[in-house]
Amino acid sequence: MQILFNGTMYKYILIATVYLFCYSSLTGQTKSVPDYVLKKVVIDAGHGGKDPGAVGKIVYEKDVVLSIALKLGDLIKKNYKNVEVIYTRDKDIFIPLHKRSEIANKNKADLFISIHANAIENRPDVYGAETYTMGVNREKRNFEVAKKENAVITLEKDYTTTYQGYDPNSVESFIMFDLLSDNSQENSLRFASYVQDEMVEGNKRYDRGVKQDAFIVLILSSMPRVLVEVGYLTNKKEEKYLASKRGQKECANAIYKAFKKYKTDMERLSNFTTVERKPEAEAPDIYFKVQVATSQVDPRKDSVWYDRYPDFEYFKAGTSFKYTIKKERDYKKIVRIAKDVRTYFPGAFVVAVKEGKLIPVKQARKEMIGYDY
Ligand SMILES: [Zn+2]
Repeated sequence: MQILFNGTMYKYILIATVYLFCYSSLTGQTKSVPDYVLKKVVIDAGHGGKDPGAVGKIVYEKDVVLSIALKLGDLIKKNYKNVEVIYTRDKDIFIPLHKRSEIANKNKADLFISIHANAIENRPDVYGAETYTMGVNREKRNFEVAKKENAVITLEKDYTTTYQGYDPNSVESFIMFDLLSDNSQENSLRFASYVQDEMVEGNKRYDRGVKQDAFIVLILSSMPRVLVEVGYLTNKKEEKYLASKRGQKECANAIYKAFKKYKTDMERLSNFTTVERKPEAEAPDIYFKVQVATSQVDPRKDSVWYDRYPDFEYFKAGTSFKYTIKKERDYKKIVRIAKDVRTYFPGAFVVAVKEGKLIPVKQARKEMIGYDY
């Protein structure tokens, strides 16, 4: 089953989170300087140059999204002098997808915002805004959107080498990328839901929801990242809106407001420390992990795992390797984390580690009794 968050569901989660943090501010200590400051954002206007993207009757996708991207960047620069805005393109030029992610990764951006407009053949009745985070959607209906946005790689020379044999027409190659998902999913979802809220509540646009799909530009980037489909150029009314100065301004403004909210929240959340616990040294050397895959491939041959997951660990079992991410001594916490991990690694589950070896979770929990975890 595919887990899709919509704006409302996410709001409940946020309310719960805010409640928890209000609570911890009473019992824990706060620091004056936040641990996390959002300093760099990469804004990616889709397509460009020889690639027009979706072609409407009066406008090209590449022009609409460039205008929105530049307006968004201006708003951020004007209001946040300390935030660096980096564009993947600020004019009508062709940039390969992997270059866009490279720009974000090399600059160590805190947030990556890719802006696109949608189109659907023979369905002029379809309209509305939707925001995507990285994920493999096995539902064909949604697969079409990523397929369309990814197809651009065939315009690049030698794309099979650049994208490791990826074929934009095959569902299998999407699934291959599934394992490359990472731990910024939670914050990507947070930002995506803010964007969607602003589009819908602020701009009164039709809500097509927060979704997940395997867009190459999201797969290859490693920070919290979203892809916004601002609307459908194949819908007459929406094309007119998106082609207009007013429509472009409103879209930029909605994403800006989401950015503002996200930046404020992320910095506020990092400002809290948790309630003090017993000294860790007394507790047994046991912790929990989330196992995401079993493979014959030695993970040491693929640095992606170590790059993307600071807590990545593997455990050898016979001839295969168990890949695990996340690390937590609190069992309840790891259960919640595993639930989130399953949105991008569907088969993920909790395992326990004692003195460097996997042990049954039941046994681990028993040995941890009395240590407040
Ligand atoms: Zn596009």
